[in-house]
Amino acid sequence: MSLSLSWSVVRVNTKFEFKIARSAFSHYNRLILELTDGQYLAYGEAAPNIRYEGDTKEIVAMLDEKKPQILELPVDDAETRQLALKKMFPDSFSLQAAIDTVFWDLYAKRDETPLWRHFGASKDLAISSYTIGISDLDAIPAKIVEAAPYPILKIKLGTDYDHEIMRTIRKETDKVLRVDVNEGWKSIDDAKRGTEWLIEENVEFLEQPMPALQLDDIAKLREFSPIPIVADEDSVRPEDLKNLVGAYDGINIKLMKCGGLTNALKMIELSQKYEFDIMMGCMLETSIGISALAQLGSFARWLDLDGNVLIADDPYLGVGNIGGKIILNDKPGIGVEPR
Ligand code: MG
Repeated sequence: MSLSLSWSVVRVNTKFEFKIARSAFSHYNRLILELTDGQYLAYGEAAPNIRYEGDTKEIVAMLDEKKPQILELPVDDAETRQLALKKMFPDSFSLQAAIDTVFWDLYAKRDETPLWRHFGASKDLAISSYTIGISDLDAIPAKIVEAAPYPILKIKLGTDYDHEIMRTIRKETDKVLRVDVNEGWKSIDDAKRGTEWLIEENVEFLEQPMPALQLDDIAKLREFSPIPIVADEDSVRPEDLKNLVGAYDGINIKLMKCGGLTNALKMIELSQKYEFDIMMGCMLETSIGISALAQLGSFARWLDLDGNVLIADDPYLGVGNIGGKIILNDKPGIGVEPR
């Protein structure tokens, strides 16, 4: 039976304003895809990020234009599909991710298998972190209270009062802390100074301390730092990884950066080759995007899959998150349905 594709733009509101080194938002527009063959209904999501591409409106225009070609993509040949998507939407990786996901979901639903099982992954996932965005110092204690169920916190830095943020948080909690600077430390001297006090505050790893492509500086920082350094803005697509050898200990895989599960699988394979520790992260995504990447979650050492729990009005139900423990279900595909 022939396929039919539809989409909608959904506005989701965050529980708190979500602020990082370069932006602050309290709501986001997400593109939701539905693909059906008449028997099974599959889901995909695009959560475009302004660091990497245009907004939802631009994506919808691209979808409109390419709909007939999308419907001709193969359900059971991910490699061919990914090559075609790369040509169709060379600059929109979240749209590639949405389409790749919706096809994988349909594929596994037809097979009546959860995708994690199809990928040879397991339901045994590391505990995910919970993100503490940037805020004024006096708002931090309330944020730590809000994060009470989560044993691992990821702290966003990249301000001119980073050290005060870390000291304030450490006063409130002795939980495992990870730090994400989102390219905020511009010079090697700033980065070394920052790393020195992160050592004092006992941080598990440091994500993207310096601007992407400043790889010589990051390699120097890595020699200096006993804390592992993880690439995020530098680790976008599979072809980036070979350039990161020597500069980073680990890489952060996100569907919305790499273009979907097919490319995420490639990044996992390459991480084994280049000996990178694997982190998996997300944008502010509904349970569609989060559940999709969670299917590969057991391949990661570190998880940061909290996008759906930062949303106040997630329209979908998929993986659970109990105190950072991501619970995969046994439903076919990505295991998602409308709430
Ligand atoms: Mg990051």
